[in-house]
Formats: sequence, structure tokens, C-alpha cells
Amino acid sequence: MAKEIIVLPGDGIGQEIMNAAIDVLTSVARKFNHTFHFTQYEIGGTSYDKYGEPLTDGTIDACLEADAILLGAIGGNKWDALPPHLRPEQGLLKIRKALNLYANIRPIKGFAPLLHASPLKESVIQGSDIYIVRELTGGLYFGTPRERREDGNVAVDTLLYHRNEIERIVEKGFESAKLRKKHLTSVDKANVLESSRLWREIVEEKSKQYPDVEVDHMLVDSAAMKLITDPASFDVIVTENLFGDILSDEGSVLTGSIGMLPSASLSDTVGLYEPVHGSAPDIAGKGVANPLGMILSAAMMLRYSFHLNKEAEAIEAAVEKCLEEGFHTADLKIKAGKQVDTKEMTANVIRNL
Ligand code: NAD
Repeated sequence: MAKEIIVLPGDGIGQEIMNAAIDVLTSVARKFNHTFHFTQYEIGGTSYDKYGEPLTDGTIDACLEADAILLGAIGGNKWDALPPHLRPEQGLLKIRKALNLYANIRPIKGFAPLLHASPLKESVIQGSDIYIVRELTGGLYFGTPRERREDGNVAVDTLLYHRNEIERIVEKGFESAKLRKKHLTSVDKANVLESSRLWREIVEEKSKQYPDVEVDHMLVDSAAMKLITDPASFDVIVTENLFGDILSDEGSVLTGSIGMLPSASLSDTVGLYEPVHGSAPDIAGKGVANPLGMILSAAMMLRYSFHLNKEAEAIEAAVEKCLEEGFHTADLKIKAGKQVDTKEMTANVIRNL
């Protein structure tokens, strides 16, 4: 199989972890007889430094032509003082919108050798296997008006959802649940928000098409509590953009380190894959970043965009083997085993492939 992959390393540790993913994918290609061709473009602060904007039309066009996109991370103090429309985060929001990446998927499953590194008791986290489906191109982050009024003393954001935006993400939630334990938790704030009441109506309507999927409605405040008190009770969570942003970050630390978690952002035609974490400016350039979230994102790309399940499983198994062998990066805060840097961790994953 031959595939064109656009890589967007971005800022901070982005380039370091992207190199790791490319090395692992190159090794997978050799082993399974595929050809992966990588072309690098800029996004975020790095793009601003080069072109004066966080995402150029040229990069968007290249992504639209690609078979899949890998993204590192964006952001850093260097660009914090820029006006809002030039900040690195705008690059991220713009690419999601331009590629219509409306579904963000975050699997949160602890690796057995890391369970003791979770901030939760091992007995609480044990058995957790959560799949968060978050709406990514609507809601509060995109609605207008979004502005300051009265000399900057009043601020307005708009939470807006159209029926079709809710329907397509809720469908993704049901479809995902159907392939897993057939339990869907829809998270909203229907006791207060009108948009949540529409959301809940649509979930009820759609549930008739999926009689074998058990559906719960949960208010976002309850969901935030339940995620730390009883994470094993969840299977698939489907929710809107802002709630999903917060809950998926809360979920991401359950497994021990944010550096471990992959994500996929999907349209109906293309997928963008990135680790959950940010650009980690505090450790950028030191060569110590955990590359596993990025490497596992590459595995998600193989599975969702290229339907290469065997190859994706090979990467996941190689990562697990490294952890079982005791290899870990500094962020995992494990005393036993052997602490390694980004390159050594990557080499170990490749050895175990
Ligand atoms: P962060 O995820 O970058 O870092 C939080 C903490 O986790 C830091 O101590 C960092 O060193 C550590 N960490 C994160 N990833 C790691 C990895 N792979 N290996 C080892 N340690 C890791 O979040 P932050 O500090 O809140 O944000 C830093 C910058 O990243 C900001 O500019 C923010 O806007 C941006 N950001 C970008 C994204 C993205 O690109 N999708 C997501 C979140 C934040």
C-alpha cells in the first residue's frame, strides 16, 4: 500500500515526537511492505515565524490532498502576546474547520504496567477503557458573535449548534458503541442550556435506530465526578465541544501521563492524528519528551485512515512490551525500570515491532 502523509510537527516538542513517529512508521512500512511518503508543512508558531500566520492556505490545500495528516503540537510562550487571530491555537482551530474534522476520538485505556502511576487508586482505575467522542467544529469555540463590548468590559461568546452537526457526531457515538460494549453515555447540561436540550432530543431520536445500545444521559458536572470516582463504568462518551475538551483532559491523566494518549480527528473523508498533550515548552529541545502519545496516534492513523489493523496492533503491542520491559520517560515518574529519552524510547518500540 502506498500512502501520502502530511506531517505538521508544530512547536515545542512537536518536531522531536514527530521524528519518533516517522521512524516507527518507516519501520512498519519496511516490515509490512508498504510505502509511506512524508511531506512536512508548518503549523502554529513555527508557521507564524516563517509566513506571518499560524496556518497558510498552502498547508490546508496539501492536507486536503493527503491520505492522512499527523500533527505534533502547537503553542508556546514566545507567541502568547500575539493578537488572537495570529496565535498558534488559531492554526489548530482553522485546520479543524477547513478539513471539517468534526469528530474527535480519544481512547483512554491504561497500560497495565502504568496503572500504579495513575493519580487514582489502582482499584478505581482497574478495568477502565473509555472512548470519548467529542464534537470538534461547532459550539462555543466557533459560534459568533464572539467579541468584547463596552470598552472591553463586556465579553460575549456564542454557543450555537445546528441539528445536522449534532446528528452526525451522535451517530459516530452510537456506531462506536455498537463496536464496543454497547453502552453510550451522552453528556450535556440539559438542565440549563437550550443547545443541550436539542442535543438530548437528538440522542433520544437516534437511539431508536440502535436498539442494542444502552444509552445514559449524564449532566457534565456529574460526568466530571464519575470520571474520577468510577471510570470503569464508562464505555463510549459522546459530547459537545467544550464539555469534551474538559472531560477528555480530565480523562487523559487517569492513565498516569498525558504524554501517553493518542487522538484522531475525523471528517467523512480524511483524518488528522495527534497526541492529546500540548507543546510542553518546559521540556522542548531537551530530547526527553515521551513520544508514545504521538506513536500511538500514528497507530490510530493506520487503523482509521488506512484500515491497516494488523500494523496498528503491532505498534500498540510494541509500546506495551517496552513498558513491560520497564522502559519509561521521565514524565511517567516511575522509580523502577529504566528511564530513557525520546530517541531511546523510540528505538525500543522499533526493536519490539
Ligand atoms: P502541555 O500538554 O504542553 O504540558 C503540560 C505538562 O505535561 C508539562 O509539564 C509538560 O512538560 C508535560 N508533557 C506534555 N506532553 C509531554 C510529553 N509528550 N512528554 C513529557 N511530558 C509532557 O500543556 P500546557 O503546558 O498547558 O500548554 C503548553 C502549550 O501547548 C500552550 O501554548 C498550549 O496552548 C499548547 N497546547 C497545545 C495543544 C495542541 O497542540 N493540541 C494542546 C494543549 C495545549
